[in-house]
Amino acid sequence: MDASSPDRTTLIATIRDYVEQLREEGMEGLPAPAPRSIPAAPSSSAPSSAPSVTVSAPLAAELFSKYPGLEKTSTLDGLSAFIGDCQRCKLAPRRTNLVFGVGNPNAQLMFVGEAPGADEDARGEPFVGRAGQLLTDIIERGMGIRRADVYICNVIKCRPPDNRNPEPDEVASCEPFLFRQIDVIRPHAIVGLGTFAVQAVLKVKTPISKLRGNWQDFRGIRFMPTFHPAYLLRNPADKRLVWADIQEVMKVLGMPIPRRGGSPS
Ligand code: URA
Repeated sequence: MDASSPDRTTLIATIRDYVEQLREEGMEGLPAPAPRSIPAAPSSSAPSSAPSVTVSAPLAAELFSKYPGLEKTSTLDGLSAFIGDCQRCKLAPRRTNLVFGVGNPNAQLMFVGEAPGADEDARGEPFVGRAGQLLTDIIERGMGIRRADVYICNVIKCRPPDNRNPEPDEVASCEPFLFRQIDVIRPHAIVGLGTFAVQAVLKVKTPISKLRGNWQDFRGIRFMPTFHPAYLLRNPADKRLVWADIQEVMKVLGMPIPRRGGSPS
């Protein structure tokens, strides 16, 4: 690189500004995959077969990251420290606790819900209210494993006021943290709980009633959409459908399925 070339830091800052400008103008994504090799600009003295500048995958991730440095976090503790006392979206001022996630950092199975409710906000732990009790029953009584053996978190880490649905800007602020959690844990399977979580992760608008029970792919990880436990509290007859979905998950994880019963009541 000659003296007139921008150094790497300036180059990254310039491209980041440009990406941010595109984002502000409403562009929601960039063509994937990010280019790995950019041909060098021809110069009068350059031979016709110009050398190329290789952009490594980590550098490309850094360039196009919403939160530079996030991709460098390699543990859940590191990620939690990166998120810190998050003030990145408008949910922050009204939360009691940021609800990061709980469970086994090496879990084979991960459950992803929507957002903390009042109980979760008060305790700083996901799924501890009534819906959470039902999820715990599904895991412990249904699957026969401990809640602490799986990993549980939400798309949104702070409680939306009055339990309203999370808004698009809040999802955009928070979802990089969920995706990093998934990348750090790399579970064998993920269960998406309810419309919101499933649509946010898969980036689809398909209704949960159509998606549930059918394996999907999230970055090479098997993803099973199913109904949210809060929905099951209102529609207990559909517990059998969730139990069928969970049994598919158990099969993929090589877990024994109880011959009869086992279904959480
Ligand atoms: N509902 C969710 O989606 N997540 C929680 O943590 C609690 C209830």
